[in-house]
Amino acid sequence: MKLSKNDDIKLNIDALTSEGSGIGRFDGFAVFVRGVVPGDEIVAHIIKCSKNYAIGIVKDIIKPSKFRVESDCPVSSKCGGCSFRNVSYEEELRYKKDRVQDALERIGKLDVKVEEILGADNCSHYRNKAQYPVSICDGELFAGFYAYKSHRIICNDDCALQPKEFKDGLEAFKIWTEKADVTSYDENTGKGLLRHIYFRKGFATGDIMACAVINGNSIPESELLVSLLREKLAGLKSVVININRENSNVILGKECKTVWGDDYISDKLLGKTFVISPNSFYQVNHDQCEKLYTKAREYANLSKDETLLDLYCGVGTIGLTMAEDVKRLIGVEIISQAVENAKINAKLNNTDNAEFICADAPTAAKKLEKEGIKADVIILDPPRKGCDGSLFDTVCQMNPKRIVYVSCDSSTLARDLKILDEKGYKTKKVCAVDMFPRTPHVEAVALIE
Ligand code: SAH
Repeated sequence: MKLSKNDDIKLNIDALTSEGSGIGRFDGFAVFVRGVVPGDEIVAHIIKCSKNYAIGIVKDIIKPSKFRVESDCPVSSKCGGCSFRNVSYEEELRYKKDRVQDALERIGKLDVKVEEILGADNCSHYRNKAQYPVSICDGELFAGFYAYKSHRIICNDDCALQPKEFKDGLEAFKIWTEKADVTSYDENTGKGLLRHIYFRKGFATGDIMACAVINGNSIPESELLVSLLREKLAGLKSVVININRENSNVILGKECKTVWGDDYISDKLLGKTFVISPNSFYQVNHDQCEKLYTKAREYANLSKDETLLDLYCGVGTIGLTMAEDVKRLIGVEIISQAVENAKINAKLNNTDNAEFICADAPTAAKKLEKEGIKADVIILDPPRKGCDGSLFDTVCQMNPKRIVYVSCDSSTLARDLKILDEKGYKTKKVCAVDMFPRTPHVEAVALIE
């Protein structure tokens, strides 16, 4: 039988996509449904039907999966964030480990067993960063998160993944936008001022940064905003505006101006101190990040006479937590604020064997290789799209003993491990780390020799 739009069909959900949608088969034909759990038997209402797949919504759950749990978030069915809110944590971990394993086998064609996934002790309020899209209607500020694959804001100022203080920070912004007559940015017209409200918190220090992402150069009544934020947030250390006048989906613009306090906040990881600017990358889950870096350090297995090259180093966190194990550390990062942070971080931690280069990783690696620098161990921690293909020739020419690859996307990790495998660098160990509990994302770290 051929499926059509508006059909109601019985469906057994037997898998999840990497974005957290359930997959069921109707006469072999793939049907994707959000908000379901593998093992659910449902009635799906078909809302879209294309040549190769259909999309449905849940009309009825006939028999719930044994892995199904009650969602503890009032907006989880509408918000795009937590596709595992309805799934037991044990099953979520099993699924995430399997996903990394599956990518290694299917995409990487590798024969390596993923180690036991490092699960989180705490799945609530673990994020240290939130970027809320906003809309101001009749003077009232609405902040929340985008619904799945849309720019429709689902209001939520008390997200179960975010620290409690961010709700108080949003309250300060609400009063300010009303009193200062602030408008919100409209993507269609390109007009209006406030685009996003962005908070960051150092979990080990309690420091909080508040940032208004604006389509303009300044904000009205900034003293009022600062005093409201100071009143509500005991840990407030920095208030900044980020200027973004581009008509694009990228949240942050390049330029920041500090309105009050410091240009950055601090946090501690594995006993080291790190300053972090608004534009610098920093892992969102403090405790899981420490587990990830500890595993990366174990894989790196460094010794005092070695040179460590930390490519895509951000504010220098991975390298600097390992600097005392090596003779020399070189970090490479493309965002200048992050490199500035990394240099300060080296000083703050009394590390005198580290240098940081602001450059594109493949370009910098090639230059270092030409200069005759031999890296004994190379850390690769690229963004989700993985490494630029041109990097691997240089990496192999450098002839490192070990490569430790940290990745937030198991598909691009598997693709890159396959390239390294073909060049003679074999993947020896892989460990998955649940950096983002309740969401579909999973982190992994690999040892390549
Ligand atoms: N290792 C760091 C950062 C990892 S995130 C940590 O654990 O915190 C990936 C980093 O790669 C980001 O800081 C990003 O700014 C940087 N980056 C992205 N493209 C790059 C490129 N072409 N060259 C160098 N760094 C890049």
